[in-house]
Amino acid sequence: MSASTLLNRLDGVKQTGKDRWIARCPAHRDKRPSLAIRELDGRTLAHCFAGCETSSVLAAVGLDLNDLFPERQGGYSGQKERKPFYASDILRCVAFEALLVSIAALNVARGVELPEEDRKRLLIAASRLQGAVEACDE
Ligand SMILES: [Zn+2]
Repeated sequence: MSASTLLNRLDGVKQTGKDRWIARCPAHRDKRPSLAIRELDGRTLAHCFAGCETSSVLAAVGLDLNDLFPERQGGYSGQKERKPFYASDILRCVAFEALLVSIAALNVARGVELPEEDRKRLLIAASRLQGAVEACDE
């Protein structure tokens, strides 16, 4: 499957380079792009940096993992691509998390006590940023 089959089903698609894009993830309420997409050797790779499984992302737009790897006999092998995404794209996908942390920090500095919900959201931000670091290291 070429990336266009997936891209046509996504919102907020932005091309970030040759054969690479970011888009809003269809598997969670994504206001800003968290999904990185890459076309590589006739395959399409997708990763949600908010933590959705790729199978969930595809299911949300009516596709499955076998659609991404049509040329392989037996379909998806589960083999991982080493560093499939550019660090710059990963950074774009988690940039909002840094903004969120900075807003929380400003509020704390002003003496505002963060509600429980915000504190939980900060932990999510930390885990997404950690996930982004790990994706760069893979
Ligand atoms: Zn997602």
